[in-house]
Amino acid sequence: MSEPGKPRSHGRLQPVVSLRPRDLMADSRAVAGAWRAKVITLFPQAFPGTLGLSLTGKALDQGLWTLEPIDLRSFGEGKHRNVDDTPAGGGAGMVLRADVMARALGVAAQGTPGDRAQWPVIYLSPRGRPFTQARARALAQGAGVTLICGRFEGLDQRVIDHFGVEEVSLGDFVLSGGEIAAQALIDATVRLIPRVLGNQASTEEESFSEGLLEHPHYTRPATWQGRDIPEVLLSGDHGKVADWRRDMAERLTKERRPDLWRAYRDGHDRDPDGDQEL
Ligand code: SAH
Repeated sequence: MSEPGKPRSHGRLQPVVSLRPRDLMADSRAVAGAWRAKVITLFPQAFPGTLGLSLTGKALDQGLWTLEPIDLRSFGEGKHRNVDDTPAGGGAGMVLRADVMARALGVAAQGTPGDRAQWPVIYLSPRGRPFTQARARALAQGAGVTLICGRFEGLDQRVIDHFGVEEVSLGDFVLSGGEIAAQALIDATVRLIPRVLGNQASTEEESFSEGLLEHPHYTRPATWQGRDIPEVLLSGDHGKVADWRRDMAERLTKERRPDLWRAYRDGHDRDPDGDQEL
């Protein structure tokens, strides 16, 4: 069965209207060694979505990375291109079929390195290992990624096992589909590709880069609604500003994320050059 609301009468493939010329041309305009994302989805029209805007969009236009949505529907069964079926064992909802996904994965694998360290195959899933900034950095250093966006109840386990697909979660909540999760993962990764952000220093200082949450930001006007910008930030003393920012980052992390704070402190205790207490 296909999703409610989808026209089912015609068996032909629906044209993928979302692909703008630049997406179709992405590969030909890609710079050498461009990072590549392939996304298997029932909703290719959701791409590039927000990835087409601002920094990630500009980088896409410049060929610093490429995006290839792969329409799962086109690998469906029969004239209705069915991609899902009822869950074995009963219960609510539908499950994406292993054979249909396997065909899509076969096409996605074309022209990609078999080495999963260079090119991971990831199913966005609430059961997955939580996505982190460290993972985004590792992904950005590889050649690219194939992402599987689930829908309905999710994906037949056998295709996950058979292809050694890794599961990655965006957090402890349930989305209705993997598309937003895939876009978040791609966004976090693409901005770490050299030349995508104008100012690389900004990725080194921001949240998580050193295991701390980032300090608060302020800009003009100096007074707003009776609230002043902290004086030290207007002092022009770079040393004091740096100290204040670190202090705030530590305070925020301690308050909001005791888990990160513990990891940060343990890391510093182990660091022989750090302020280790003997
Ligand atoms: N029945 C599943 C949830 C399915 S939600 C379960 O309880 O685990 C439908 C799809 O949305 C999933 O297949 C997955 O691709 C995506 N999704 C939902 N929550 C997500 C999350 N936290 N992180 C990444 N992907 C998620």
